[in-house]
Amino acid sequence: MIDLHSHTDRSDGTLSPAALVERAVQTGLTALAITDHDTFAGYELALPVAQARRLDLVCGIELSTRPEGPGGGQRPVSIHLLGYFPAEPPSMEFRQWIQSMLKSRHQRNLGLIDKLRSFGLDISLEEVQALGKHLTARPHFAQVLLRKGYVSSLQEAFDVYLADEAKAAVARDEPPLKEAIRKIGDAGGIASLAHPVRIPGGRDRAVFAPFLKDLAAAGLHAIEVIHTEHQPSDIALYQQMANEFGLLATGGSDFHGDTKPGIELGTGRNNNVHVDAALLDRMRARCAAGQEAL
Ligand SMILES: [Zn+2]
Ligand SMILES: [Zn+2]
Repeated sequence: MIDLHSHTDRSDGTLSPAALVERAVQTGLTALAITDHDTFAGYELALPVAQARRLDLVCGIELSTRPEGPGGGQRPVSIHLLGYFPAEPPSMEFRQWIQSMLKSRHQRNLGLIDKLRSFGLDISLEEVQALGKHLTARPHFAQVLLRKGYVSSLQEAFDVYLADEAKAAVARDEPPLKEAIRKIGDAGGIASLAHPVRIPGGRDRAVFAPFLKDLAAAGLHAIEVIHTEHQPSDIALYQQMANEFGLLATGGSDFHGDTKPGIELGTGRNNNVHVDAALLDRMRARCAAGQEAL
């Protein structure tokens, strides 16, 4: 059993990188990908621990991108893209590109503080940053709002203030989806479209198949067939489309620790995630084939 989608406290998860590796070993995973948002810091801290514990740790990242073209609307929903580097570490150029995204996230956080204060809420960036050890994200804002009694749950913090369409929302500069696919491929990685059920029309084959076919032509390597939010019918649909468009399948729990309670590393919600180690073998084979083609 493996898990190709997980987060540490270096992005918006709650477990430290070392604790996540320990959890993976206890769970009986043979391989784990850390896919923090916009940072490799968790992976890098976890690597020596994983080597000592003989866990196959895969370097990954999750990026928020925006779809291009017509239909994007004024504030298109962001589309999450996973990048995997199961063979070679990502290039320095790719790391620098990631750094520029961290800067735009910081700008967004400053804007979010201004907006929340404009609604009369007493909140400072320092308080929020104290929770986001490395990367301050919206769940950390939600935790501060809850602690101060401005909302009665983390979900309410998102619904009322923080979600993309909520009243304090601040748009963040996000790279175009196809550009991000290309950057991951150029850096020697595998780009996989994350949790497609969250994409508008993602469960409607007539809407989603042309979209996916276009991305495959643009260099997308894989699609996240298995995910905690996927029903068995979703898994069947995405596996069928992966076969049709020559895409690899990836899968994982999207484990975040306490920020997403009820989701277990490796097994998802109520044991609804099962990822075969063969998926990772196929990713490595694809990377090796890509190297030979150069
Ligand atoms: Zn995601
Ligand atoms: Zn995720």
